[in-house]
Amino acid sequence: MAAAWQDVVRDAAAVQEAAAVAVDAALLAGVLMRTGEQPHASDVVNYAPFTLLPSAVPRALFEQAYAVQQDFNLLVDAVSQNKEFLEQTLASTIKVDDFTARLFRIYMQVLEEGLAQTVFLGINRSDYMFDCGLDGTAALRQIEINTIAASFGGLTSRTADVHRLVLKVLGKTEEASHLLPNNPAEGLALGIAKAWELYGSPRAVVMFLVEEVQRNIFDQRCVENELWNRNIRVLRKRFRDVFEQGSLDASRRLFVDGQEVAVVYYREGYVPQVYDQQNWEARLLLERSRAVKCPDIATQLAGTKKVQQELSRPGTLEKLLPGHPEAVARIRATFAGLYSLDQGEEGDRIAAAAIADPDRFVLKPQREGGGNNVYGEELREVLEKIKDSPERTSYILMDKIKPQPALNYLLRAHSPLQVSKCISELGIFGIYVRQGQELVLSQAAGHLLRTKAIEHADGGVAAGVAVLDTPYLV
Ligand code: ADP
Ligand code: MG
Repeated sequence: MAAAWQDVVRDAAAVQEAAAVAVDAALLAGVLMRTGEQPHASDVVNYAPFTLLPSAVPRALFEQAYAVQQDFNLLVDAVSQNKEFLEQTLASTIKVDDFTARLFRIYMQVLEEGLAQTVFLGINRSDYMFDCGLDGTAALRQIEINTIAASFGGLTSRTADVHRLVLKVLGKTEEASHLLPNNPAEGLALGIAKAWELYGSPRAVVMFLVEEVQRNIFDQRCVENELWNRNIRVLRKRFRDVFEQGSLDASRRLFVDGQEVAVVYYREGYVPQVYDQQNWEARLLLERSRAVKCPDIATQLAGTKKVQQELSRPGTLEKLLPGHPEAVARIRATFAGLYSLDQGEEGDRIAAAAIADPDRFVLKPQREGGGNNVYGEELREVLEKIKDSPERTSYILMDKIKPQPALNYLLRAHSPLQVSKCISELGIFGIYVRQGQELVLSQAAGHLLRTKAIEHADGGVAAGVAVLDTPYLV
């Protein structure tokens, strides 16, 4: 599979020409980001980084990832409704991790008050790598599931056209015709629109809760525009706007800047640095409100690394999804080894194993957004330091996935064109809407392929490490 485009990768002149075509095609297609220098301006933009060539993805694994997505929708939704499970699972974590603890406190607070809304909207993205076994066969292994602010569903819908053109320029017309159409933004909007409709007030708006610095605004606009096309009004607000302009009426309907909000779609709120006291208050206001939250705070907690690790314990999936043995089997087949670092014998043993052989593992804190995980020699040092302290329970350990690298060119503004050894990560978007106990919508909504040079252990597109890609099924 590494050899998919071997002939063109070595042809420097053809690569130069194709790269120039690719960059212009990306700009034309709207594969865009605001720049680091002017992150608030839309009049100076550049293309979002992407690969010159689509990367080979084993068809069977691609299909497996799609086939398990509805199961993951079901699982995340089940975890979000299971107070006992969330309480037990996060008990040790919230003693040492202040951020998770604060989210958990809001979760308990809103449950105590009683939820004002019976409609739930989930938008998630389950990410995978293709683990290369000793015999050379690849297996689908879940890296994590993102239950809040899963991004790039908009821009990725535009990269396939770019890669189709590049393949044609390189004389691969037949191969170009095999690239799949893909439009997660449309699926995301479908979920949001369904929740908006069930909220039941045609005047009410969808509020995108956005960052202070919105470099990835075009990705979000793709979803927004799909909603406008359905004649649903969209508002973009930050936490601080909610703090200043937000209020609840007697029946806890949410008003921001005078407009009733039917759905709050979070593209922000998953890193601790965002939350000062005012923003925590704004978050609480939103969670208490009658608006449909995407995700609600329980679903955000369901996406923590600690929950992911506990889900891999024998018997847990069966308990959470009784009566769904096939879903359980499909889900479990994607799990890599995951290990608790809770205090006790089990944690001691795995900590010692990781210190002895750090390259087998990844050490993960309860954080999202890339750049937080610990690898290799640093993993050894960190674990040595915290192995006898309660602090270690804020982390989990995971088997390191080792995909087969392939050669590609990563196109990034202001960077020289050079060939890199790359690995890819496949994400599948899932959407679901639940009303009371009835799942009224649940589906896979498209895919995202991100590719990075193997020198980088960690990090996504927004973190400046990975780039957008298109799967070429083999
Ligand atoms: P985040 O929530 O920060 O995105 P992830 O668990 O997705 O955390 O990890 C970030 C990146 O680190 C991934 O995109 C992947 O490149 C790398 N990574 C994470 N887990 C593993 C693993 N088990 N094996 C190899 N690489 C991993
Ligand atoms: Mg990730």
